[in-house]
Amino acid sequence: MSAVNSFDWFAPISNLKGVGSKIAEKLAQLNIHCIGDLLLHCPYRYENRTQLTPIKALQIEQSVVIQGKIINVKLEGKRKKRANITLTDQTGVISLLFFNFHPNMQKSWVKDTTLRCFGQVKANQYGYVIIHPECEIITQDKPLPQHLTGVYPVVAGLSQAWLRRTISSLLATYQQYLTQKDHFADALSPCLPMLPWLQALTTIHQPKADENIEALISRQHPAYLRLISEELYSHYISLKKLKGVAKAKTAKALKVSDSLLHAFIKELPFELTMAQQKVCAQIHEDLKQQTPMLRLVQGDVGSGKTVVAAIAALAALDNSTQVAIMAPTEILAEQHLAHFKAWFEKFGYRCQMLSGKLKAKEKRDILENIALGLTQVVIGTHALFQDNVQFKELGLVIIDEQHRFGVHQRLALHIKGQAAINANTPHQLIMTATPIPRTLAMSHYAHLDISIIDSLPPNRQPITTLTVGQKRKEEVIDKLKSICAKKQQAYWVCTLIEESETLQCQAAQSTQIALQEALPYKVGLIHGKMETSEKESIMQAFYRNEISVLVATTVIEVGVNVPNATLMVIENPERLGLAQLHQLRGRVGRGSEASFCILLYQSPLSEMAQARLKIMRQTQDGFVIAEEDLTLRGPGEVLGVRQTGELQFKVADFKRDKAYFELLSEWEAHLKDFSETALSRICQKWNVKADYAQA
Ligand code: ADP
Ligand code: MG
Repeated sequence: MSAVNSFDWFAPISNLKGVGSKIAEKLAQLNIHCIGDLLLHCPYRYENRTQLTPIKALQIEQSVVIQGKIINVKLEGKRKKRANITLTDQTGVISLLFFNFHPNMQKSWVKDTTLRCFGQVKANQYGYVIIHPECEIITQDKPLPQHLTGVYPVVAGLSQAWLRRTISSLLATYQQYLTQKDHFADALSPCLPMLPWLQALTTIHQPKADENIEALISRQHPAYLRLISEELYSHYISLKKLKGVAKAKTAKALKVSDSLLHAFIKELPFELTMAQQKVCAQIHEDLKQQTPMLRLVQGDVGSGKTVVAAIAALAALDNSTQVAIMAPTEILAEQHLAHFKAWFEKFGYRCQMLSGKLKAKEKRDILENIALGLTQVVIGTHALFQDNVQFKELGLVIIDEQHRFGVHQRLALHIKGQAAINANTPHQLIMTATPIPRTLAMSHYAHLDISIIDSLPPNRQPITTLTVGQKRKEEVIDKLKSICAKKQQAYWVCTLIEESETLQCQAAQSTQIALQEALPYKVGLIHGKMETSEKESIMQAFYRNEISVLVATTVIEVGVNVPNATLMVIENPERLGLAQLHQLRGRVGRGSEASFCILLYQSPLSEMAQARLKIMRQTQDGFVIAEEDLTLRGPGEVLGVRQTGELQFKVADFKRDKAYFELLSEWEAHLKDFSETALSRICQKWNVKADYAQA
C-alpha cells in the first residue's frame, strides 16, 4: 500500500507549493496536517459542471454551466457597487448580477469576452438571472471537467477553488506513483463490497456523472467503505496490539480459596445477584492466570459494582498481595473505605485511605504501612498514584469510574504499575457506570476484556422522571416538603454553563439559603470548594438523615449511596450530557421506596435539548441512554472526556457505520497476514496514536 518516494503521504502540508503558514493554519483547523490528510478530506456534495446548458434551455432553480459573450456591462447603484452583465450564447440572453465585487473582477468584464459561469438560475421581471456566478474567462477552447465537482468543508479564508485545485493535482500525482495492488481491499472485499484504495479516492473526489451520487453523499458507496473499514480497523488493531503488549507481561496468579470466598459471601447482608456472580467468576478466572488481567466491568448505577470489586480484591489478599483502589473523588474514596473496612477487617486485613489532604505525619505512617505490607487495601484518589507510593507487593489495581479520569491519568497509572518493585505486573480491574456502547467498545476499548453486570439487585423501584420548567419551581418545593414529611431525603443539584467552579458553588450556596427559608427541614450544602473534612461531615450527616435536603454541585455525581434518598432535583439539566444526568439520577432509587427525578429546566429549550430530556423521561436503561448520547453529542460526552480529538473519526461515523464495528474481529482474521509495518502505516494514516488508550 505504501507510496513510492515521490509521493510522501506523511510529508507536512507546508511542503506543498503555495502553502505558507497562513494556509497551513487554516488547514489545521480542518484537521489536515500532512499531505495525505488532504486526500482524506472528502466532499459533502457535488455539482455537475460537465455540460454546458444553452441559455434557451435553462430552468429556474437549476444549477448550470453556461458559456457566452458579454454584450453589455452596467454598473448601478450610488457607488457603482452593483454590476449587471448581459451574456448571450446565441440561444438567448441572461443577466449576471454582482453586488460588492472586487475591482479585479470588474477588469475582466469587457464586451465580447467569453465567460463560462456556474450558478443557480433565478428569474426577475426582465428574465433569467444568476446572482454571483463563479466565472472563468475562456480564451481558447477549454474542455469542461469530465467528472463531477466536489464541494468541500472549508473554513473562512480557504476557498473551494483552492481546495479543488490542490486536491485534484495531488490526486493526479498520487495516481502516477501509486502502482501497488491494494491488499487491504483484496482481503476484505469478499466480505464487504469496496473499491480499491486509489479508485476509491478518485471516485470520492472526482466521481463520474453517472456515479451513484446519493450513495457517495450518504457515504455508503463502495468507495467510502474502503476508507471507513480501514479507519475502523486502524483503531481496533492498535488497541489489540496494545493488549498483546500488556498480556506479554507476567503477573502473579491469584487464586482465591473457596473457604475464604464462601466465608466472605456469607457475611454479606444480601445475596449476590446472578449478574454479580457471573462477573465475579469471570474476574477470578482472569486472576488465576499468570498474565495480567485487563478487564472493564460495566454496570449501571446501583448495579452493585463495589462488592464485585471487593470479591476481586479477595483473591489478591488471599495470596498475600496488596490491592490499590482508585476513586474519582474523595467522597467516594471515603465511602469505599467504609465499605471495605466493614467487609475486610473482620478477616484481618487492614484498609487505609491515602488522600492529598493528609497531614505529613499521618501520610508518612500510611506510606510506611503500605511499603511494609501492613496495610493490604489502599484506597485513594489520583493522589495515590501521583505520589511515589511503594507497595510491598501490589497484586491488583481497581479503578472505579475510570472514564472520569481521562486518558492521561490512565496512562500515568499504567506507568506506575510498571514501576512496582516486584517483577510482576499487577492485574487491573476497571469499573464504570457509564455503559459503553458496543460501537465504542469495539473501536476504543478493544484492548480490554469486558464484563457486564446486566441486572440490578432485586426490589429496586423504578425512578419516575419528570421534566418541569423553572416557572413551576414552587411545585417542586412542595414535592420536597412531602418527601421530607415522610422522613425521606432529597438531592438538589445545581449546574452552571460556566466552567467556573466558583460560580457553581455560589449558585449552590444561594439555592441552599432559599430552600432553607422555604422548608422546615434541614437543608445542607456540599460543593467542590469545601475542605475535605467539611465535605465528609456533611456527607456523614446526610447518611444519618440529619440533613433532609442536600444541595450540591455535580460533585455528588459518582457513587454516593444513600438508599433513603428518593428525590433528585437537577436544575438546568439541559447543560449536562445524558450520561451525566443518568449518573446523577442513579443516586436515587437505591432503596425500596418509589423514587423521583425532577429535571428543572430553563425555557426555552432547543430542539436538541428537548430530544435529550425526552430520552431521560423515557428510559432508565443506561445502555440506551449512552447510545443516544453517542449519536447526539459524540463520544467525548459519553466518556466524560472533553478533548475528544483522539476519539474522533475522520470518515467513519458511530451511528451510520454501526454494523461494521461488529465485523472488526472477522476482518482481523482476513487481514492476519499484514506486516507490522503495513499496519502501523495504516494507523499513522488515520492518526491513531497507539498509546492513547493505555490502560
Ligand atoms: P454501583 O454499581 O453504582 O457502584 P454500589 O456498589 O454502590 O453500586 O451498590 C449500590 C447499593 O446496592 C449498595 O447499597 C449495595 O450495598 C447494594 N447492593 C449491592 N449488591 C446487592 C445485592 N446483590 N442485593 C441487594 N443489594 C445490593
Ligand atoms: Mg460505584
